[in-house]
Amino acid sequence: MNRYDIGFLGMGAANGLLLLELERKNLLHTLKILILEPDAKLKNDKTYCFWADSEHKIRTELRDVLSHQWDTIATADGLESLEDQHYYMVESTALYNKVKSVAQSYENIVWIRGAVDGLKTRTDAVELSSGDYTWEVEQVFDSRPPRIKEPMGPLVLQSFVGWRVELQEDYWTPNEMTLMDFNIPQNGFTQFMYVLPTGTKEALVEMTRFGSEPLPHELASNHLRNYLLSPGLSFDIVHEERGTIPMTQYAEVKDQDARIISTGARAGKIKATTGYAFKSMFEHAKELASGIAQERKESSWLRLPKSEMDRFNFYDHLLLHILKHKPHWGKEIFEALFATQKASKVFQFLDEKSSVKWELSMFARLPVLKFLWALAASFIAFVVAKPSRWAPLLFTFFASIAVVLLPTYITYGLQAILVFLLFLYGIPHGALDGYSHANKDRLPKFILRYCFIMLLVVLFWAASPVIGLVAFLVYSAWHFGETDLREWGFPSIGLSFLWGTMLLAMILLPHLGEVNTVLEVMGITRVDWPAEFVNMAIRMTLTLGLFMGLWFRSIPWIVAMVTLSLTATLPLATAFGIYFVLQHSLSGWNHLKLSHKWTNLEMWMKALPFTIGAVVLFLLVFRFDKNSMLAWSSYFLVFLSAISLPHIYFMSKLYKDRF
Ligand SMILES: Cc1cc2nc3c(=O)[nH]c(=O)nc-3n(C[C@H](O)[C@H](O)[C@H](O)COP(=O)(O)OP(=O)(O)OC[C@H]3O[C@@H](n4cnc5c(N)ncnc54)[C@H](O)[C@@H]3O)c2cc1C
Repeated sequence: MNRYDIGFLGMGAANGLLLLELERKNLLHTLKILILEPDAKLKNDKTYCFWADSEHKIRTELRDVLSHQWDTIATADGLESLEDQHYYMVESTALYNKVKSVAQSYENIVWIRGAVDGLKTRTDAVELSSGDYTWEVEQVFDSRPPRIKEPMGPLVLQSFVGWRVELQEDYWTPNEMTLMDFNIPQNGFTQFMYVLPTGTKEALVEMTRFGSEPLPHELASNHLRNYLLSPGLSFDIVHEERGTIPMTQYAEVKDQDARIISTGARAGKIKATTGYAFKSMFEHAKELASGIAQERKESSWLRLPKSEMDRFNFYDHLLLHILKHKPHWGKEIFEALFATQKASKVFQFLDEKSSVKWELSMFARLPVLKFLWALAASFIAFVVAKPSRWAPLLFTFFASIAVVLLPTYITYGLQAILVFLLFLYGIPHGALDGYSHANKDRLPKFILRYCFIMLLVVLFWAASPVIGLVAFLVYSAWHFGETDLREWGFPSIGLSFLWGTMLLAMILLPHLGEVNTVLEVMGITRVDWPAEFVNMAIRMTLTLGLFMGLWFRSIPWIVAMVTLSLTATLPLATAFGIYFVLQHSLSGWNHLKLSHKWTNLEMWMKALPFTIGAVVLFLLVFRFDKNSMLAWSSYFLVFLSAISLPHIYFMSKLYKDRF
C-alpha cells in the first residue's frame, strides 16, 4: 500500500488555498502528497468575493487570481467609500488552474480523480479508500462537504442565482458595487440583489434569498429580469451561477483523531449569517501550514478543543433564529444596519473585529424588539430541543427540596419518574443501536452479537466482581465523557475520559457509604478511605470541573458540574439516575435522532421490543428478590454493565462515522 505524508480529501477552495500556502512556504518538495478529488475542476462553478484591508496578505499573495476590485459602495443615501477596505473577486477557475499547475510541477504530488468512500484510523496511519484502492497517509486535510444536523428548527439556506450580463451601452461604473439592494419583492423571505460591475457594460447581478426554502430558479430569473429591465437596460446573459450555502452554526466536523483535520466548510469556516468563507479559509490555511512547517503533531489524547462560545456566535445565533422563523424581518434589519453604519465598519463587525462599544451602539439603532423576541424565542426553542442541558439541574433542585421538606412518598414519586424515564429514553437509546447499524448487520444477527457481548460481561462479573466493576467504571467513564463532550462540542479522547472519570467521582465519592453497602453485597472489599481524603478529592474534582467549564467557556459544562455537586445530598440511585437518564440518555437519544433524522415516535416504535424485554427482565429480577432492594441494585449494576459494553462500542462508531 502506498504511504503519504499528507492526504487532501477534495481540492476545492480550502485545500487549494492550503496547497498554495505550502508552496509559498517552500514545503511541498519535502512532503509526499496524495490528492483525492472527484471533480475535474474545469468549470467556473463559484465566484468568490471577499473584503480585506490594504495590508491584508490575501491581497498580495493571491494577486494573480484576483479578477476585480471595488472601493465604493452604492447605498440608499448615495455612494460611500469603503475607506481602508476593498472588495475583491476571484473566479474559481483561476484558483483551480493555479492549484493544478502547482500540483503538476511536483513529482511527489499524486492527484487522483476519485471520491473518498472510506476512512479508517489505525495507530500507525490513516487508511483512505476509493473504490478498490486504498492508501495510507499520516495526516489528512478533509474538505468533504459536511453533513449538517441542525438541532433547533429548520436549516436556513442562502440560495442565489447570479447572471453575468453584458449591456449594449455603458451604464455601470466598474469601481462601484451594490451589496444588498432590498428593493425587490421579498416573497415572505429576506431577498436582495448584488451588483458587481466588472466594466461599464458588464456586471455580475445576483439575487439572493435567506430562508429555509431555496430560491426557485424561475422566480429568481423573473426578479433578475425585472431588476435589469426597470432602468431600461437591454442585456445578454453570458453565464449563470447558482448556489446554496447552508447558514448554520453546526457545520463543523471535528474528528477525535488529531491526524484528521477539517478544512473549509467542514471546519465551520463559512460564517453562518453571511455565507462568506474565503478570507477565513485563507487565514486557516496559514495556520495549518505553520503547523506542518513546525512539524507540530497533536496527540488525539492530549488535544484540547477550542471553545466556540463568544459574543459573535451569540449575535449570529439571534439573527439566524430570526431568519429561521421570521425571514421577512431581514429586510428591515439589514436596511437599518447599512443606513446607520458605514459599510467599512459593518465589514469589521462581520470579521468579528469590532469593539463591544460599537456593537452596543449598532444594536441600539436596529429594531431592538425583534432581537429581544429572538432572544426569548430561541431560549424557549433551546429548552425544548435540549432537555439534557437543564432537566438534570431542575430535577435535582426539586428532589433536594423534596428530600428535606416533603413527605417521603414524594421522593419515591420522583424516583418512579426516573424509572419511567429510564424506560422511555434510557433503555431505548441503547436499544436503537441495532437500527443505527442495520445496514451493515441484519437485525437478528446483530441482536445475537449484542446478547453475546452482554453474556460475556455477566460471566466476567460472575468470575471476578472486582474486575467486572473496575472495567465497568472505566468504559462507563469513557462513554459518559464521550457523549457529554460530543453534546457540548468538544470531541477529544483525553478530555472525554477525564470528564467521564470526574463525573463518576462526583456521583460515587459523596455516596461512599452506599457504594460500600453495594460492594459488600457483591462480595467486593469495601473502599475505606479516610473522610478527609474523600472530601478533599470531591472538592478538587469540583474545582477542576468548574475551572474546565470556565476555561472552555461552556455553560452546559458548568451547569453539569453544579448539578453533580448538588446530587451529593440525594440517595446514590437518585443521583446516578438523574445523570444517567436526564443528561446522558437524553443527549444520546438526540444524537441518534439528529444523525438518522428520526422522529421521537419512530425511535420509540423501533425500540419497543427491546423496551418490553427490559421491562420484563426488570420485573423478573424484582419478583425473585423483591424483599431486597440492595441485592436488586447489584443485579441492576451487572445488568447495566452488560448492556453498556456493546452499546458503547456502537455509539462510539456512530460518533466517528456520522458526527
Ligand atoms: C456557489 C457558491 C458561491 C460562493 N461564493 C462565496 C463568496 O463569494 N465568498 C465567500 O467568502 N464564500 C463563498 N462561498 C462559500 C465558500 O467559500 C465556498 O463554499 C467554498 O467553496 C468552500 O470551500 P471548501 O473547500 O470547503 O469546499 P469546496 O470548494 O466545495 O471543495 C470541496 C471539494 O471536495 C470535493 N469532494 C466532495 N466529496 C468528496 C469525496 N467523497 N472525496 C474527495 N473529495 C470530495 C468536491 O468535489 C470539492 O472539490 C460560496 C459558496 C458557493 C456554493
